[in-house]
Amino acid sequence: MTTTETATAVVAAPAAATATPAKTTNLLEFDLDGLAAFCEKLGEKRFRATQLFRWIHQRGARDFDAMSDLAKALRDKLKGCAHVQALPVISEHVSADGTVKWLFDVGGGNAVEAVFIPEDDRGTLCVSSQAGCAVGCRFCSTGHQGFSRNLTTGEIVAQLWFAEHALRARLGKTERIISNVVMMGMGEPLQNYSALVPALRVMLDDHAYGLSRRRVTVSTSGVVPMIDRLAQDCPVALAVSLHAPNDPLRDNLVPLNRKYPIEELLAACNRYLEHAPRDFITFEYCMLDGVNDQLEHAQQLIDLVKPARGAGVRCKFNLIPFNPFPASGLLRSSQAQVLAFGKLLSDAGIVTTVRKTRGDDIDAACGQLAGDVKDRTKAAERMAKQRTIALKLVT
Ligand code: SF4
Repeated sequence: MTTTETATAVVAAPAAATATPAKTTNLLEFDLDGLAAFCEKLGEKRFRATQLFRWIHQRGARDFDAMSDLAKALRDKLKGCAHVQALPVISEHVSADGTVKWLFDVGGGNAVEAVFIPEDDRGTLCVSSQAGCAVGCRFCSTGHQGFSRNLTTGEIVAQLWFAEHALRARLGKTERIISNVVMMGMGEPLQNYSALVPALRVMLDDHAYGLSRRRVTVSTSGVVPMIDRLAQDCPVALAVSLHAPNDPLRDNLVPLNRKYPIEELLAACNRYLEHAPRDFITFEYCMLDGVNDQLEHAQQLIDLVKPARGAGVRCKFNLIPFNPFPASGLLRSSQAQVLAFGKLLSDAGIVTTVRKTRGDDIDAACGQLAGDVKDRTKAAERMAKQRTIALKLVT
């Protein structure tokens, strides 16, 4: 058991979901355009969809009868063909520092998690995009358990819908609590692109959660064509799980690199920055003892992102202490090595953050979740805790 788990308390899970209405449409599956198209089929104008969208996402309503400014005829139509359904909650953990972690049942023996991380100036929700992951990064326990399935748009949105309104109810607040979303839970978001983008649009929509593009982060292991598509479709903040400074090493740690090597990935990052409102890429780098943590590796990173000639990449680095698990065959770098590595980057003018662990806690660049349902709850909380106590190295 980790120190983090010792500090958490399991509380009764809020009532997120009751019986799923058969053969009706879950309105959490739609962005506003999708909901407008759905309403159009019911003979309703777009402004009705906007009203409905607000009720669902801004007010957390799921009972159509409570939507008092909708005509009774529309409410009756909706009751016959639609519902608003969150995911069944398997468990909820509340840590001493206010972090809240929910484990959701997505059927078929699969579970995903969302984690809320409160900080002084923000409230961040870490959201999952897939049950399992097909990328298979060596240092990631989610990768070791394999891929089950993509989440739907509604299952991605449901994590935010439930967390926001459960927290408001608990804290007795009516104003927004979640100010940031990071797609860093279980899964590779860009391998579930068609479900991801409408979910991002719900997060950004002023009639729903109204988050700014800078406050929604997609974390990817480097699916280059989808980075380019995201730049066109919905250029939110981008984090890239880099973890190695050269192709032979990255091929070994992040198998997707064999398809999209570092040069192509960095070129995609620069193309992305032409569209992104945020003016840097966040590179996640899991520190692995004797594998990728030597000072020569740091120098190689500097040469990649700040080359003597050429533009390089506007970026910052997050150095992440690794939490060993037996199947990985990898060990955590020493604190001294992490700090020396970070100092070299920082001295080169690269903003660098080191995440500090507690007890056996670890971090995960995007979804380092273990193989059984209980263990799947760990990674994002660790990420959250490490973030809150991150040590920023001054450049
Ligand atoms: S680190 Fe991210 S992309 Fe890699 S296996 Fe884990 S969840 Fe998948």
